[in-house]
Amino acid sequence: MQKYHNIVILTGAGISAESGLATFRSSDGLWNNHPVEKVATIEAFEQNPAYVHDFYNELKPLVFQARPNAAHLALARLQKEYPAPVSIITQNVDTLHEKAGSEHVLHIHGQIDQAVCLNCGRVMQASGDVDTETSCPHCGIAGMMKPNIVFFGENLLCMDEVDSLLRRCDLFVSIGTSGVVFPAAGFVQTAKYAGAETYEFNLEPTSNNFYFDRHIMGKAGTTIPAFVEKLLTNREN
Ligand code: NAD
Repeated sequence: MQKYHNIVILTGAGISAESGLATFRSSDGLWNNHPVEKVATIEAFEQNPAYVHDFYNELKPLVFQARPNAAHLALARLQKEYPAPVSIITQNVDTLHEKAGSEHVLHIHGQIDQAVCLNCGRVMQASGDVDTETSCPHCGIAGMMKPNIVFFGENLLCMDEVDSLLRRCDLFVSIGTSGVVFPAAGFVQTAKYAGAETYEFNLEPTSNNFYFDRHIMGKAGTTIPAFVEKLLTNREN
């Protein structure tokens, strides 16, 4: 393992599983019992915004009570102690990276503690309930707030910054993501073509493994602190 100049980490629902937040596709998943097409598509929101708001309002307390685990904490340590930039891109709508002390996390699927105004496009903090009557604190219009969560049918957030990070990284690390949802599943390919070393951390082999140099199997709460320790030990080489 060498010293790197730009490290990019992509995280998915698997990194938060040991914090008690079930992954998307597991049988006890957060979205279980709620068909995706009813709560996570832009068409569903257009047709029945009250139902979608209720769903996310109910989900918020569960997500907010979760605490960062050893993997989130190790990544925050890496950002602080590694002598080169370490960028975190997450597909998670929880804020466990921030709770662990990470800064400037790119939430490409949005954040559950925010809402966005469909009238003016501005984002507001929304840890409490949001509904079809909520007014935008910026433009004052009521009834146009949407959870700041990227639904199927919408564009991902921060993609210009993500693309530029991927094209100049020399280490790309994917943690706890099934690699079936594009475009995030294609990030490894961009990083590989840019010349990066590529590592995948997951419980099991994924179908998206062609562009990864190394696969490390196991729980992120165990594998990531060990990996971070190795990176920090080798940082001066
Ligand atoms: P996913 O549920 O499709 O896949 C999770 C992956 O993590 C699986 O491959 C699984 O094998 C792996 N995994 C599970 N436990 C693990 C552990 N302890 N250590 C390492 N790996 C582990 O999740 P995804 O690929 O991120 O896509 C689902 C989308 O659903 C996300 O992009 C996100 O928007 C949303 N989601 C978010 C949260 C959250 O914010 N915490 C939770 C569930 C779903």
